[in-house]
Amino acid sequence: MSDSYQSPNQYQAPKQKAGFVSLVGAGPGDPDLLTVKGYRVIQQADVVVYDRLVSQDIIDLANKDAEMIYVGKQLDFHYVPQDQINQILADKAKEGKHVVRLKGGDSFIFGRGGEELELLAEQGVSFEVIPGITAAAGATSYAGIPLTHRDHAQSVQFITGHVQKDGKEILWESLAQPNNTLVFYMGLKQSGYIQEQLLANNFDEDMPCAIIENGTRKEQKVLTGQLSELAEMAKSAKSPALIVVGSVTSLHEKLNWFQ
Ligand code: SAH
Repeated sequence: MSDSYQSPNQYQAPKQKAGFVSLVGAGPGDPDLLTVKGYRVIQQADVVVYDRLVSQDIIDLANKDAEMIYVGKQLDFHYVPQDQINQILADKAKEGKHVVRLKGGDSFIFGRGGEELELLAEQGVSFEVIPGITAAAGATSYAGIPLTHRDHAQSVQFITGHVQKDGKEILWESLAQPNNTLVFYMGLKQSGYIQEQLLANNFDEDMPCAIIENGTRKEQKVLTGQLSELAEMAKSAKSPALIVVGSVTSLHEKLNWFQ
């Protein structure tokens, strides 16, 4: 174990006169999936800036004197614009405060954590990154869907289903590899398009797939079917949900332990 290792009981975010930002991944829903390090810094924070997907139980861990700032985000509706969020983090830190920026899942996986840190770096604000369990790991674990499996998949890809404003398109033809699992974030609204593109790029109609809604939460729901039914399945699913495409999804029936 390295000399710099600190046990969870000792961990303190680095104290800096100029303030400090801890970017914390809160995990996919079940509050017990927060890391011990994340738990510590939330309790120590002067300011907590949090998103819509963060569980209330985790928000409630903050010190009662902490300033709580909700900047919730939904797919097509930004409660607080991204550049304003970035600036709030920088401004609060410059007041000498320890700011915790709390995001659902992992901040570096479709969480725009990188963008927020870039502004802090440019403005000379110190920060740390505390990873979280990303939805693809958490929701599939709770659904009994192993992302890789020697008999099914030797690789896995995380893909955003959110069509970008600047028109960057997914390289659909690159997804059609054998023994591969695809996980689409933010794909519910685009499920018809995802189905169409995969079928047009060498995927079989009967490729097993799953939609995991509210993964790791009490309300978790798992729908399974085949690729030709994906858009139809999505009609009865609610956000937040992941779309998983690949033969590993067929293991849900056997390995489902949570519901
Ligand atoms: N940074 C987050 C992802 C943010 S993008 C992470 O690492 O998990 C938001 C998308 O994540 C949602 O549209 C959905 O596709 C997925 N997601 C987040 N929480 C989820 C959950 N509990 N169950 C299923 N999907 C979830």
